[in-house]
Amino acid sequence: MKSTMQDSPLLVSAILRRGGTVHSESTVTTVESIDSATGTPQTRTSTFGQVAANAARLANALRTLGIDGDQRVGTFCWNHQEHLECYLAIPSMGAVLHTLNIRLFPEQLTYVVNHADDSIIVVDGSLIPLLCKANGGPTAFPNVKHFVVIGSGDHSMLTEAFPSIAVHDYATLLAAEQPAFDWPMNLDERDAAAMCYTSGTTGNPKGVAYSHRSTYLHSIASLGAPILGLDERDTALVIVPMFHANAWGMPYSAFFCGADLVFPKQFLQAAPLTAIIAATRPTVTAAVPTIWNDIWNYGEQHPIDLSSMRSVTSGGAAVPRILMQRFKDKYALQIMQGWGMTETSPLGSLAKPHKNAHPDEYMDFHDLAGRVLPGVELRIVSNEETGEVAPTDGATIGEIEVRGPWITGAYYLDATPEKFRDGWLRTGDMGTLDHRGYLRITDRTKDVIKSGGEWVSSIDLENAIMAHPSVAEAAVIGIPDPRWDERPMACIVVRQGSTVTPDELKAFLANRVAKWWIPERWTFIEAVPKTSVGKFDKKVLRAQHADGLLSVVEG
Ligand code: ADP
Repeated sequence: MKSTMQDSPLLVSAILRRGGTVHSESTVTTVESIDSATGTPQTRTSTFGQVAANAARLANALRTLGIDGDQRVGTFCWNHQEHLECYLAIPSMGAVLHTLNIRLFPEQLTYVVNHADDSIIVVDGSLIPLLCKANGGPTAFPNVKHFVVIGSGDHSMLTEAFPSIAVHDYATLLAAEQPAFDWPMNLDERDAAAMCYTSGTTGNPKGVAYSHRSTYLHSIASLGAPILGLDERDTALVIVPMFHANAWGMPYSAFFCGADLVFPKQFLQAAPLTAIIAATRPTVTAAVPTIWNDIWNYGEQHPIDLSSMRSVTSGGAAVPRILMQRFKDKYALQIMQGWGMTETSPLGSLAKPHKNAHPDEYMDFHDLAGRVLPGVELRIVSNEETGEVAPTDGATIGEIEVRGPWITGAYYLDATPEKFRDGWLRTGDMGTLDHRGYLRITDRTKDVIKSGGEWVSSIDLENAIMAHPSVAEAAVIGIPDPRWDERPMACIVVRQGSTVTPDELKAFLANRVAKWWIPERWTFIEAVPKTSVGKFDKKVLRAQHADGLLSVVEG
């Protein structure tokens, strides 16, 4: 029997149309600069109505520049209002938004622009020098026909670097266009709306193409009360770069429900960020643990005001329990841990305590990678070869596999059957799942340490070490060992003004982790190298160790 329901497609333009009308008075604030004398942010504010009008102008301008189908339009930008206009206009007109990671290596940047076949790139004036570094010289981007520059910047630099690509000014283009656009309703909701490449820790980055349908469903899901519970009364500060898995969906969710938006542009260090928080009083935000760690350290030296915030999410890497405890104790702020990937749009799980949990147990729940979201399914495969699925006992470790309407089923023009199994995505994360849907991540497959045939969880070990008051950051890597095959080595960043020895750390770990986990090799470093999205880059540490660049203390 067929249903009697209407079958309107789930399109990104629904987000744009609703935000631009029903929530036309909601605001978008962009930080323009930070006053060097006072440290106060200088901002500009528009309404959702103005943003929607600009999105229509942009769509008209892109049509004039030849975008008449599903061509890819790249963005090479910080987080700001115009980037939001791109987020809304490009998919809604039927083209495909491709957010370019501004921190990719020059070869990778050239690779992803050409692999996605971008035909226009929208670029921040301030990022022109970075874009010009792309590998390949004047013909690096054979298919790009236009650059559209946002804000002030040296256009001549682009023309000199890429003489055959036309350069336009964003504001001038928009000023010449009408603030209305007939958003096509006959798009297929399963067609691509946006693309994002993984950061390519091994080999070239892989492209994920989100559909209109997946974007719409992901936005609705993240609005729900069990997730962010985002609402018109909220102000959402978008710290996660808009090139990192759609800024975790926040721009779309906020525009959909009318939550005011604040974009911090490039001001992502703890000092400006806390000044932005104090000035714009966001209620909701999200960021990788590194940012929260920096804010914590800054708050130890300076007065900061986080009192506006009701919900902060962290993920993208394990969130140290001690960090969550510190924010809770000092600022009465519970950091909510989430897990996801570029491939999962990205929200896959969020760590809210179970309804039957005692308040004393809440932190144990926050310490997990989260509870699987409605709409997403997870399983643990304990035997890679046979595909045997582990019981949901919260104890059996295996590779996490995931499926659902906003999980990728393939990589764009990149056949990788080994990444999928019977319609499930193999995440490359190891962990456990319990019967109530709570996920614990023990490691990434590429970071696992197997010592004497048993796994050491580098994440658990790092978290245990970072609980030491003198430790600012700790990363644990597996290094070859003649007796045990591999042993963990701890790379320690000591907190400013503190000192700590391996013996002290070993004594500290004694009743916190299994005895055989305790490293016998230690190295003290200035900072843990970070990936392009601010996560610990253990591959760099492993390479530095292999090249003999780390001075190792045995103890
Ligand atoms: P990249 O691969 O460059 O890190 P992604 O942002 O797509 O880019 O990373 C997804 C990965 O981040 C996951 O596969 C997982 O390893 C890690 N991750 C995300 N959230 C968590 C979490 N809460 N705890 C541990 N690891 C996490």
